[in-house]
Amino acid sequence: MPCIGGMRILFITLAVFLAVVSTDARSAERPPQFVAIAFDNCTELERWKELSDFAAAMNKGGDRLHFTFFVSGINFIADADRNSYSSPMGRGVSRINFGGTLADVRRRIDFADDLVRHGHEIASHAVGHFSGKGWPAETWRKEFGAFADVLRHAARNNAIDPADMPDLPARATGFRAPYLATSPGLYATLKEFGFRYDTSGDSLPDAWPEKTDGIWRFNLARLKLHRSARSALSMDYNFFVLQSGAITDPRRFEFFRDQILQTYLDYFRANYSGNRAPLHIGHHFFDYQGGAYKEALKSFAREVCGLAEVRCVTYSKLADYMDGLSADQIAAFQGGDFPKLVEPGADVARVPANRSAEAH
Ligand SMILES: [Zn+2]
Repeated sequence: MPCIGGMRILFITLAVFLAVVSTDARSAERPPQFVAIAFDNCTELERWKELSDFAAAMNKGGDRLHFTFFVSGINFIADADRNSYSSPMGRGVSRINFGGTLADVRRRIDFADDLVRHGHEIASHAVGHFSGKGWPAETWRKEFGAFADVLRHAARNNAIDPADMPDLPARATGFRAPYLATSPGLYATLKEFGFRYDTSGDSLPDAWPEKTDGIWRFNLARLKLHRSARSALSMDYNFFVLQSGAITDPRRFEFFRDQILQTYLDYFRANYSGNRAPLHIGHHFFDYQGGAYKEALKSFAREVCGLAEVRCVTYSKLADYMDGLSADQIAAFQGGDFPKLVEPGADVARVPANRSAEAH
């Protein structure tokens, strides 16, 4: 009998041991390197076209790159129909321009529609580009209500026959605040309107996302500029301010472009061979510094998107992935508790450390 009891204890011990090992094995699996590239405002029609074409070329031989577009709802209301927008500051009031002519609005809707059908994401940058710093939940509610209305009733708001104009994608589940200006009232409201994630915050470059109050926080990263002690948030406008004091200087275009490309590659290499925290890069449709940042971003995407273990995806896809992880797995990833690619393998070696941006 003692022998059978001993066997039983041995079996139980073994079962517990195996359970622990298999849990470890699961958390020890190396996560993919996510790269999330997003744009704010999304006004300029030539940029809608340029980015649609760029993504289509990147995805020709298979899915390599999908963008998230945080659109300002105002882009989808023609100047003439400005009074269809009831803003927190009054009817027909916005901090940025309305959408232009009806034809401009129509073209923007067609681009957005086509991009969504090709796997890109339309998310929210609110409507009138106001700073929501200090806004109570009630004001956010008004603005989110107006955004939902813009998505659902683009045709009606622009006083045209719905049969003549497609509506925008029905619902946005991601948000980035204008000026990244937030308030406690924002986070109380996001869930109410069906949002899954917010991208208005900032973190260290190797921070894995956290879910707070049911909302994933996909924060921009504070990046050290390549070969510089200075740092900025991972956004084109912030680089523009840091590199040049927001003054366009065509003589230094190549320097600015290459420094940001190398900054992005530093960020990528550190995370790819480190704890694999997702990368967050935020740009605008406006060509700051004569397009230096746009060129850097395109070169970066060409270099890394499509490499083994790299997923250049929309924020919704990143949210799907994060939803599938346990808190223990996220903690293990944060701690880098998995076999890393310590030696830059063939994939990372393909990323040249000192190459200038390609001219296109
Ligand atoms: Zn903005």
